[in-house]
Amino acid sequence: MRSDARVLLTSVFGPYAQDDEYGSRAVNPMELYHNQVTREQRAFSLRMFHRSWGLMLIQSNIDAPCTLLDFPTMDRFIQEIAAHPYDIVGIGAIQPNVGKVQKMCELVRQHLPDATIVVGGHVANLPGLDEQIDADHIVKGEGVRWMRRFLSEDEDRPIRHPHVLSGIGARTMGVSLERRPGDTAATLIPSVGCPMGCNFCATSAMFGGKGKFFHFYETGDELFEVMCELEEAMRVRSFFVMDENFLSYRKRALRLLDLMAENDKPWALYVFSSANVLCRYTMEQLVALGVSWVWMGLEGPGADYVKLKGIDTRRLVRTLQSHGIHV
Ligand code: SF4
Repeated sequence: MRSDARVLLTSVFGPYAQDDEYGSRAVNPMELYHNQVTREQRAFSLRMFHRSWGLMLIQSNIDAPCTLLDFPTMDRFIQEIAAHPYDIVGIGAIQPNVGKVQKMCELVRQHLPDATIVVGGHVANLPGLDEQIDADHIVKGEGVRWMRRFLSEDEDRPIRHPHVLSGIGARTMGVSLERRPGDTAATLIPSVGCPMGCNFCATSAMFGGKGKFFHFYETGDELFEVMCELEEAMRVRSFFVMDENFLSYRKRALRLLDLMAENDKPWALYVFSSANVLCRYTMEQLVALGVSWVWMGLEGPGADYVKLKGIDTRRLVRTLQSHGIHV
């Protein structure tokens, strides 16, 4: 594909989680906050929305002219493809939205018959997807390098980090939780994939599974530079670290800790971590690194995962909490 190709990136159209002809709600009736993470809070359960970070990352890292539609309605999507001669239409989706991807591919063929359709995101791992949708390329795994390569651009040049708030429209009981700029953490994406490769894990499988991961920022120095840039541009001091197992890259994390201390940066980090990885740090290191919130998945006692072997998880959680870390 020529490097000046006109690119449209889009998430699937809303409204979402409806009992409609596209079947998203029938495929997956779960909602991350309301009936999973904060379900015990019942009426006070959180409601919040997240941008399509993968599409934003691709848009920020290609030279080709690129438009991004995030959460369009179907009418808005049709308006865009009817009015502009895009060469490439990239659609990002999760698996429950496969019916919408199918519909969007049909619409692109109708309005832009010469365009190349690229489909990525978690939906790409759906078995038999190529028979369900009319796409030219179904891309599994890391999309920035793929898109750069497809556009004949240099795939190895440094990654520009987009400015993305970790959540938007946060509210409980209809009352907004957003008060002033800086209250919401910036999203930080150091790496994708998780080398632990638990056999049920979609995010690990998405990027190659056990032993596989991809670093956007290899070193603590690179990461520190990006965080300084986000801090200044977005007026934030906290980072939602969107990396499945950020602390498992110990050398990078400890170098970041050194740089934070040297440069007097009392940032807060919200991280995902497996129990065995947390145990490789002292509490002092975790606190100094600003780890103030940890999301840790614990499987049942019958599960035989290395990440839980020999670890007293109750004690670990109590120790983290006694150091001011939310678990
Ligand atoms: S440790 Fe967590 S993120 Fe990593 S593979 Fe297992 S479930 Fe997935």
